[in-house]
Amino acid sequence: MFGEGIIQGLVETARNFFGSYVDKDRLVTVQYPEERHQLPEATRQFPFLLYDGADPEAGLRCVSCQICEKECPPQCIHIEKSKDKKPDFVGKLQFYPAVFNIDVSTCMSCQICVEVCPFDAIRMDNQFELSTSNRFAGLLYTKPELAKSNEYYRKIHPTEAAECDERRAKEAEEAKAKAAAAAAASAAKAAQAAATSPAGAANGASGNGTASTPVEQPAGKKPVTQ
Ligand code: SF4
Ligand code: SF4
Repeated sequence: MFGEGIIQGLVETARNFFGSYVDKDRLVTVQYPEERHQLPEATRQFPFLLYDGADPEAGLRCVSCQICEKECPPQCIHIEKSKDKKPDFVGKLQFYPAVFNIDVSTCMSCQICVEVCPFDAIRMDNQFELSTSNRFAGLLYTKPELAKSNEYYRKIHPTEAAECDERRAKEAEEAKAKAAAAAAASAAKAAQAAATSPAGAANGASGNGTASTPVEQPAGKKPVTQ
């Protein structure tokens, strides 16, 4: 029937309008800002930088690779790389951003920076009450304003954060196991080199099993070990 959909829509609107007086679930509006809806987990506004632990500077995950800066379509990210390095979550020395700014007045919330970051260092925030009377400095977010803890991330995006935590823990375990294997291999190689060296062989023949050091002797005499 022509117009059937419109009539169905009007009926549903009327049911919600009158029903909202007796059934709170039919009330689709709230008395904002005193009352607020629970935001869906996928809500995204502008990016923030993640840090682990309690120190935003020491725990900042960003290694200043500048991939996000290059990929950001409106070019609203500005990064200046540090001169020195600090250890990342697997203990590898990495650069960090001396300066990291995002101009949220031009950010279009596309999330490309999040997609391209190889270090899980940048995520989308759900904060939307960002109005300011200063449209320039007030909307240029600097590193201290952008840095937010992993606990905060777990609170606003629990599913995504749990998956990220699990993957990073696995990567840290793998890196630890790899470092331990490399250290063991290096120690075994050093022991083998010591055992096959002439001094080591002579020492092995004497049977004392300790490392030996050649001692300089006068000309014409064979070197001995002590
Ligand atoms: S969300 Fe998009 S526009 Fe905003 S900083 Fe990231 S890449 Fe740039
Ligand atoms: S946020 Fe990620 S992609 Fe951007 S500079 Fe830092 S580590 Fe690189």
